[in-house]
Amino acid sequence: MDYPTTKMTAPTAKPLSGRLAVVTGSTSGIGLGIARAFAEAGANIVINGLGAPGDIERLTEDLAGLGVEISFDPANLMLAESAAKLVSNAIDRHGRIDILVNNAGIQHVAPIEEFPVEKWDAIQALNLAAAFHTIRAAIPDMKAAGFGRIINIASAHALVASPYKSAYVAAKHGVLGLTKTVALEAARDGVTCNAICPGYVWTPLVEAQIEDTARARGLDRAQVIEDVLLAAQPSKRFATVEELGALAVFLAGPFGGSINGAAIAMDGGWTAQ
Ligand code: NAD
Repeated sequence: MDYPTTKMTAPTAKPLSGRLAVVTGSTSGIGLGIARAFAEAGANIVINGLGAPGDIERLTEDLAGLGVEISFDPANLMLAESAAKLVSNAIDRHGRIDILVNNAGIQHVAPIEEFPVEKWDAIQALNLAAAFHTIRAAIPDMKAAGFGRIINIASAHALVASPYKSAYVAAKHGVLGLTKTVALEAARDGVTCNAICPGYVWTPLVEAQIEDTARARGLDRAQVIEDVLLAAQPSKRFATVEELGALAVFLAGPFGGSINGAAIAMDGGWTAQ
């Protein structure tokens, strides 16, 4: 019997050349880091997220300078229909979708008895339901093409909890369940679905929660960083958007095909405890 091998002509600096990627929430932080890594790896990308038009124009020009095609779709992923349209628009425009990264997310920190109901609803809509709607829209084309890479940016909070983050922890655990289910459903069609579970990464999302956490726990800024955020991370440093981008490129690339339904922690050892 011939054992299967993964054929590569030669290691290439552009492992995603010719691929079309949709990266949600890629105007900032981790999503932007992944978009940059994808562009460097040769993928054409549909960027999405909020931001001032001038900033987004600069950002897309900057990424296009890496020699790939970049377009921007302003879909508000709080809305189910817009999330599905982000994907169908990309397919209409490019005739394909090879890689889908569900990254857009928000956070709110408060004790559960004070947790605003509208914040709970918004976090479920963006951090969990949007991923369902984009995947649901992308899967038929990926299956038909016999290739697809879905990467959900979950969190260490998909694996463990922290106090005062009820909505976020619930949504991220949900994303991991969604990831495993899609992985099983699409495994025979050349489609993989995995969750990256970062610990703390220095981005505007983390910056915003420092103040909320300080208020909820009665601490100052330095104490929040040292005693709350990095207390959980044995490495005592933030993960970087470049590290996350490199992992996403690997999952989407030619050697990522057997990683499926996995929760890949990039948390400096946090969830090993
Ligand atoms: P960020 O605030 O820097 O970026 C969030 C992105 O989502 C932005 O591009 C923003 O414009 C976009 N976005 C927000 N609302 C949107 C909407 N309604 N429709 C479309 N896009 C919208 O945050 P980040 O830290 O880069 O987080 C990205 C993802 O990584 C999130 O899912 C977050 O939960 C996850 N994560 C972050 C960390 C961390 O420490 N930063 C750790 C674990 C997981």
